[in-house]
Amino acid sequence: MNWDDFAQWGARISDWAAEYHKTIRDRPVRAQTQPGDIASLLPDMPPESAEEMEAIMADFERVVMPGITHWQHPRFFAYFPANAAPPSMLAEMLVNAIAAQCMLWQTSPAATEMETVMLDWLRQAIGLPAGFTGVIQDSASSATLAAVLTMRERALGWQGNQKGLSGQPRLRVYCSAEVHTSIDRAIWVAGIGEENLVRVPTQGPLRSMDPEALKSAIGQDIDSGYRPAGVIVCTGGTSTGACDDIAAALEVARAFDLYTHVDAAWAGAAMICPEFRHLWRGVEQADSIVFNPHKWLGAQFDCSAHFLKDPATLVQTLAIQPEFLKTRGHDGLVNYSEWSVPLGRRFRALKLWFLIRSYGLEGLRTRIRNHVAWSESLCADLRGHPRFDIVTDPVLSLFTFRLAGEDNEAQIDYVNRLNDDGRIYVTQTNIGGDIAVRFQVGQFDATQEDVDVARQVLIELANDPA
Ligand code: PLP
Repeated sequence: MNWDDFAQWGARISDWAAEYHKTIRDRPVRAQTQPGDIASLLPDMPPESAEEMEAIMADFERVVMPGITHWQHPRFFAYFPANAAPPSMLAEMLVNAIAAQCMLWQTSPAATEMETVMLDWLRQAIGLPAGFTGVIQDSASSATLAAVLTMRERALGWQGNQKGLSGQPRLRVYCSAEVHTSIDRAIWVAGIGEENLVRVPTQGPLRSMDPEALKSAIGQDIDSGYRPAGVIVCTGGTSTGACDDIAAALEVARAFDLYTHVDAAWAGAAMICPEFRHLWRGVEQADSIVFNPHKWLGAQFDCSAHFLKDPATLVQTLAIQPEFLKTRGHDGLVNYSEWSVPLGRRFRALKLWFLIRSYGLEGLRTRIRNHVAWSESLCADLRGHPRFDIVTDPVLSLFTFRLAGEDNEAQIDYVNRLNDDGRIYVTQTNIGGDIAVRFQVGQFDATQEDVDVARQVLIELANDPA
């Protein structure tokens, strides 16, 4: 392909993308294919000869599109959103064209400097005080891993990377059972071990970690010869939106000099609206905070904002400088690859620049406020309907419910029937052994009418058991 062909195909693919989005409501939200359907359409062997782009594009429509679950569908109410607002997609197109590696300031000064400034814009937008410094990680899982590695190294006097964990004090990290499994995986990968991830009991409607129980768990562990390393709290847990009482939990952590990390992967975006910030009261005391602009805010995946009170501890944990990565004459500049596990890094800050400038914070706030209001209104309607029991009230735009008087099997069957129907997409969760339907509003282009369709479909299929 030469660059003239590229320009022609680039224009065609942009047109395709716009048409896809304009007509996306006509498609079933969840792919309706069976396992193996798509693979069976792909040749077993790679082609020896070059093929025409026309043929490749036709096959894209024929083979790929039927097997896509449409995350940008406005009636995607499952999981959490992965919004790709149009300006952020355009920025990604530019980033793809430039295809720079942004591991060091020198390998892409604009990317580094824009990352610093964009993370400071985000810091202000979500109401964190000056003094927090941000870096973009590929995912919240990576940010949490970086935080857990930092708490491990700090607790071991920076010996773990060099000496390994054998013969070291046994570490302990504390969280509730409401945190995302990315915390478990970070604990595994860091070599701390799942049995040393202590689950502190929760209390209240927000399922917050009980600070007294946290205090006594830490105290008992110290008495038993463990070395506590850190506390991980959540704002907006994945299952029901659980929110820890960050101020109370972090006060306990500080009393024991423990490193603290806040996982607000989904809910962090809502903190651009001051009225929701009570959900993470005390967050300014944290050492490390992650939220994903690639979820609710609209920055195309991947873009995870990781804020640090003292980046030096993270750099001390992760930086490694072989001669070929030294930038002689530019010492003392930020090299973001020293702040994360991977060396190579994409230019992710550009899409934040495009996104925030295109909508303004007020435009982004309006979307989030609408989503919360529509979700609350739907929840109120279902509460008043005899077919439904609300299990957990909305936390921001997430709530859970069950078909009244039905067993777990019926709830799963209901979820499957909703998703086979195709007009909406939801998933289930397990709350203390009870399966509940999990519903969140958050897709960037969702409208009140889309939530009205959801209301209609939820009631229609609840009244029409298969
Ligand atoms: N934390 C929470 C609360 C989440 O809901 C998720 C994913 O949905 C994650 C962490 C993991 O995010 P990522 O896919 O960016 O690793």
